Amino acid sequence: TTALTLAVFDGNGVTADGHLVPLLANVGGAKDAVKAAAANAQGVGLLRTEFCFLDRDEEPTHEEQITAYRGVFDAFPGKKVVVRTLDAGADKPLPFLTDASEPNPALGVRGYRTDFTSPGVLKRQLAAIAAAAEGTEADVWVMAPMISTADEAGDFAAMCAEAGLTNPGVMVEVPSAALTAETILGKVNFASLGTNDLTQYAMAADRQLGPLAALNTPWQPAVLRLIQLTVAGSLAEGNQKPVGVCGEAAADPALAVVLVGLGVNTLSMTARALSAVGAVLNTVTLAEAQRLATIALAAPNALEARAQVRAELPVLDELG
Ligand code: PEP
Ligand code: MG
Repeated sequence: TTALTLAVFDGNGVTADGHLVPLLANVGGAKDAVKAAAANAQGVGLLRTEFCFLDRDEEPTHEEQITAYRGVFDAFPGKKVVVRTLDAGADKPLPFLTDASEPNPALGVRGYRTDFTSPGVLKRQLAAIAAAAEGTEADVWVMAPMISTADEAGDFAAMCAEAGLTNPGVMVEVPSAALTAETILGKVNFASLGTNDLTQYAMAADRQLGPLAALNTPWQPAVLRLIQLTVAGSLAEGNQKPVGVCGEAAADPALAVVLVGLGVNTLSMTARALSAVGAVLNTVTLAEAQRLATIALAAPNALEARAQVRAELPVLDELG
């Protein structure tokens, strides 16, 4: 190990030429949030609210939800906290929302779709988020998982407005959302790329299956193109909406550089990855990141994309 690995992230995600890329943390509750704040995360890019209630047979009460969310907000006064509404289903079943008999849970009623079968839970969650946000200094944003159409994005934005939440966004983690990002971003204020699910669905490869790991990498050309399309949609005439990444891709320092080169505005990751991603980002200019993104996009496959980009970033060797 060297100085690069030992350095603590200084809370300033920035390229060598001063292009700011806020580095945020993925958290599952207040305990994680306190750790992430100590690691100098610049905010929370993904609060996985389902993690607060994994052991629950019943919907958490309004007060229980407020307590859970406020614990996170209080760790980040003055900072952005992106709350994701419950992503129940598939790899994260919640008994009060998930039908355990579904034949294809990953393609089933999960995330935002639970509002189709259990109406009211999402509305009550948004009310609890709004109540928890009141009286805290955190800058609270809210986003829905598993959005597949612009109509869903519009419906979610309307529900947020009704709850008094003024900064609605969506996760882009279903290929249909990436392909229609321009329309979707006309309905909401921001998007966050969930590259774990985006990869699983683009490659039709269950993210939990070891034998499919070679397919299941965000370095896949198909995934990089979906990310590129999402950014293009976010910059389309009249949009100009920020796009972050909150999947594991953001925690891979070489891929993080590529993501910045593709035009991603923020990166959210496990707090452990902040220092390595921050250190590598610090060594490249935005123009170099863009050049590496071009290299990755031109590569014939995932292994080549990764190898070619890493060959251009010798600083990675110091990270071990
Ligand atoms: C993702 O899909 O990339 C993501 C961040 O969400 P989760 O891993 O919780 O499904
Ligand atoms: Mg996901």
